[in-house]
Amino acid sequence: MAKRLDGKTILITGASSGIGASTAKEFARTSPKNLKLILTARRIDSLKQVAAEIKEEVGDGVQVLPVKLDVSNPEDINNFVPSLPAEFKEIDVLVNNAGLVKGVAQAPNIAAEDMKVMFDTNVTGLVNMTQAILPIFKKRPEGGRGDIINIGSIAGREPYPNGSIYCATKAAVKSFTEALRKELISTRIRIIEIDPGQVETEFSVVRFYGDKSKADAVYAGCEPLTGDDIAEVIVFAAGRRENVVIADTLIFPSHQA
Ligand code: NDP
Repeated sequence: MAKRLDGKTILITGASSGIGASTAKEFARTSPKNLKLILTARRIDSLKQVAAEIKEEVGDGVQVLPVKLDVSNPEDINNFVPSLPAEFKEIDVLVNNAGLVKGVAQAPNIAAEDMKVMFDTNVTGLVNMTQAILPIFKKRPEGGRGDIINIGSIAGREPYPNGSIYCATKAAVKSFTEALRKELISTRIRIIEIDPGQVETEFSVVRFYGDKSKADAVYAGCEPLTGDDIAEVIVFAAGRRENVVIADTLIFPSHQA
């Protein structure tokens, strides 16, 4: 697998924590001699920390570029590709991972601002990133080459009470991903979706507006997945032979089945 990833340029959104940070490290471990990683998120200090940890673990074979980018800000996305250094412009894999959940409320009580932030980030941000990177893929021979790996959620398949808007954003990711795959059927551009179940990350803390005790209660009495569990599957999907598409994968901890 390392051979297939060698020399690739991988772009990960939401790489400052959780699944995104784990994915960056897993790519680096899998192909430690010749890989370029572009790590994006809003918290640039955390991205630099992830970059330093990768360097410490695998050495200088992997080039890491941390870039501050808010996926909900169209201006950030418009400026992103033009401002990349030349050696990072030939992106091979986009991992659309940035996402969040805000608020726990029944439908009549959903705060307008929470709804807007979730759609702007989880849906519009993912679509805008895809539109920014696809032209790079499409200019390659045979109609194009490259991988887009979208991180959906079990919530997009099995909506639950008090989370209707988050669930709706992830259902939108699923519909967008499937339609895009069909649009690109005649190319070598692979459209992949990976849907995690419960994973212990900062995700829940954001959902409870920073209240860690409430976030910890979500995982009480169960063993959630880790970011590494999801990262391994993302890197596996990207490392398949070019005509093998791991199209749609649901991964959850055994207690959640
Ligand atoms: P984390 O909160 O640890 O990571 C979320 C990442 O998204 C952070 O790096 C954050 O970076 C980034 N992010 C959030 N908003 C923006 C934005 N506007 N622009 C750019 N980056 C942003 O949670 P997870 O690792 O768990 O979440 C990763 C993905 O996995 C999300 O799409 C989430 O919906 C999905 N998921 C998570 C599950 C779970 O149980 N944890 C279950 C199913 C799916 P920063 O704040 O620095 O911008």
